[in-house]
Amino acid sequence: MNLVFLGPPGSGKGTQAIRVAENLGVTHLSTGDMLREAVKNRTELGVQAEGYMKKGELVPDELIVGLIENKVTSGDLNDGFILDGFPRTMEQAKSLKEMFEKNNIQLDKAVLLQVSDEEIVKRIAGRAAEEGRADDTEDVVRNRLDVYNRQTKPIESFYREESILTEIQGEDTPENVYHKIMAAIK
Ligand code: AMP
Repeated sequence: MNLVFLGPPGSGKGTQAIRVAENLGVTHLSTGDMLREAVKNRTELGVQAEGYMKKGELVPDELIVGLIENKVTSGDLNDGFILDGFPRTMEQAKSLKEMFEKNNIQLDKAVLLQVSDEEIVKRIAGRAAEEGRADDTEDVVRNRLDVYNRQTKPIESFYREESILTEIQGEDTPENVYHKIMAAIK
């Protein structure tokens, strides 16, 4: 099973992607995790990406597309995958489509977790207070949400037009959301 998970920051996308990937026995690939790792290790990519991440901006497409392309061409994803946090722009979605075509990979579904802006701000502000996450101050949250709505949301229509978009109501308990996703992708 080859899936893309979409949803605004704080939609529960990461948590659900990990659990669903584990259940399906497929690879979970989070570009956010890969970038945080790169920042931690002070790699060239990490150094270039850090400033954007702190502000809640997207890192430039050319920094991230190559990372995914390496994974696609290396065969690491051959037993199925969930892409979590990629694609984030129309440019990335189009590059991904091309990579898949070249490598004979079929994307089965794009799973979208629907959560309203008000709920997102409430959730992330709560999480930031609990975890003391520097990238989650209210201004940064609002900026991340704005970036999602401007740059990532158009991808929803892109996958809707390809008839592979599956929309899940994400304002529910994590347990219920998980079961709704599993039912929808079976
Ligand atoms: P995430 O954990 O998915 O919310 O990602 C954390 C941060 O990493 C984002 O706010 C972006 O700065 C950056 N990032 C992650 N994935 C991408 C992507 N596909 N394109 C651009 N930036 C990304």
